[in-house]
Amino acid sequence: MKRTARRGIVIDKGARDFEAALLGTSFNAQDPGRRPDRIVQANDVEEVIAAVKRAREKGLTIGICSGGHSWAQNHIRDSGMLLDLSRLNSIAIDSEDGIAIIGPGCLAGELNAALVKHKLFFPVAHAYTVGMGGFLLQGGFGWNSRALGLACQSVIGIDVVLADGTLVHASERENPELLWAARGAGPGFFGVVVRFHLKLHRRPKFVGLKLQVFRMRHLEEVMAWADKVGPDVSPTVEFQMVFNRKATGIFSHGIEVLAPVLTDSWREARDAVAFINDTPLRSKASLNLPLMPMSLNMMMNTGEKTLFLPNTRWTADSMWMNDPIDPLLPALRKIADSQPAAPSHALWLNWNAPPSRPDMAFSLEARTYLALYGGLRGTAATPADESWATDHMRALQPHSVGIQLADENLGRRPMPFMATANLERLDALRAEFDPDGRFNNYMGRVS
Ligand SMILES: Cc1cc2nc3c(=O)[nH]c(=O)nc-3n(C[C@H](O)[C@H](O)[C@H](O)COP(=O)(O)OP(=O)(O)OC[C@H]3O[C@@H](n4cnc5c(N)ncnc54)[C@H](O)[C@@H]3O)c2cc1C
Repeated sequence: MKRTARRGIVIDKGARDFEAALLGTSFNAQDPGRRPDRIVQANDVEEVIAAVKRAREKGLTIGICSGGHSWAQNHIRDSGMLLDLSRLNSIAIDSEDGIAIIGPGCLAGELNAALVKHKLFFPVAHAYTVGMGGFLLQGGFGWNSRALGLACQSVIGIDVVLADGTLVHASERENPELLWAARGAGPGFFGVVVRFHLKLHRRPKFVGLKLQVFRMRHLEEVMAWADKVGPDVSPTVEFQMVFNRKATGIFSHGIEVLAPVLTDSWREARDAVAFINDTPLRSKASLNLPLMPMSLNMMMNTGEKTLFLPNTRWTADSMWMNDPIDPLLPALRKIADSQPAAPSHALWLNWNAPPSRPDMAFSLEARTYLALYGGLRGTAATPADESWATDHMRALQPHSVGIQLADENLGRRPMPFMATANLERLDALRAEFDPDGRFNNYMGRVS
């Protein structure tokens, strides 16, 4: 490891600390087997600029890491430079103007905690330790995003270091095409975002959770019900089903009906989740808790202590669906039957996106979303466990309109993740701003 004047900490392949520094960047405990030639840990924007210029001089490609939560470990590639931005984690809040300027290494939970004091809100990721850098670039399905829009819609500006080492600002007025790309390009963005300028929202006065749990034998009727009521569920409710081998309260294989709700009053929240109590299926539920007030911080931390455990080898894959659920029920049954031990889980999400969004790179979503998270710990996993997420998603491919970059697995299963016209426009911008291909592109894609 060497500290070079204004170039950050440089760790070359073969150095004693290299492996720890590399694998330490990744939430996923899987070793992807890929190795860059060099890691640069930048401490400030000047060091990012120096690192990009140095990569250019040496002809190195650049992989970027903010919070390291890419399931696919997109930032870890063979050869080139890995630029670690986790230390660029500042948060500056202007509560009068309702704006925050954050570094890409700032964590979802840290931004949320900082905003609580100002009674302000941002649709941060659902787990505390997710980095805001990668989260915002891929779209950002944050808390209350069904009501407030994707997190990237609240990005009003970015400061970017381009492939030639220049630092530029982009907003709706200045370099608008860079902002267009930053709202959804995710791991295919062609610059280093060193600051995000965010529009903040008023903080909802009530945050709570409604929870119901069914044994897995009720899968078909529970899923058919969820799919049917989904379109009428208030946008303030994140209505989702989680298949869990250690479901809350029953400690065995079950479906958790989870409905976090963010509103301005307990009464409004109670009305918004009332449909969960009103279902005739209610009598079959093994657990039916009343609406519980809960801080967002607690929900974010609980998720990481129950479902999204660290020190776990993860494989995630996902699909957007417009199809009705009936033909999918046998496949969902197979997913449940073959589900590896917890913390592996399946998530079905009621999305029902609004009819239109602003023009931005993000451009692919659908009525419902299904994601599989295979989380393996220890050495007991079978090959079927290892490929559980990818195999089932591949089998369901005919029902899918594409994937979310949040849970991408493009290296293993390339699928559409953006409207064709938007991908073409993104490619044209990449050719203009990064003509030498300095920044890594997607690990796989359907052209
Ligand atoms: C436990 C967990 C919970 C999650 N919850 C959610 C959720 O609620 N909603 C949601 O939408 N997603 C969620 N995700 C997915 C997550 O948002 C994405 O994996 C995101 O990319 C993570 O951002 P990061 O900075 O931590 O990741 P990184 O791995 O650091 O970044 C991912 C990729 O983004 C690019 N990138 C990152 N930072 C920059 C930058 N500053 N400039 C240019 N390119 C950059 C790079 O290509 C990088 O490889 C979750 C993931 C995990 C592991």
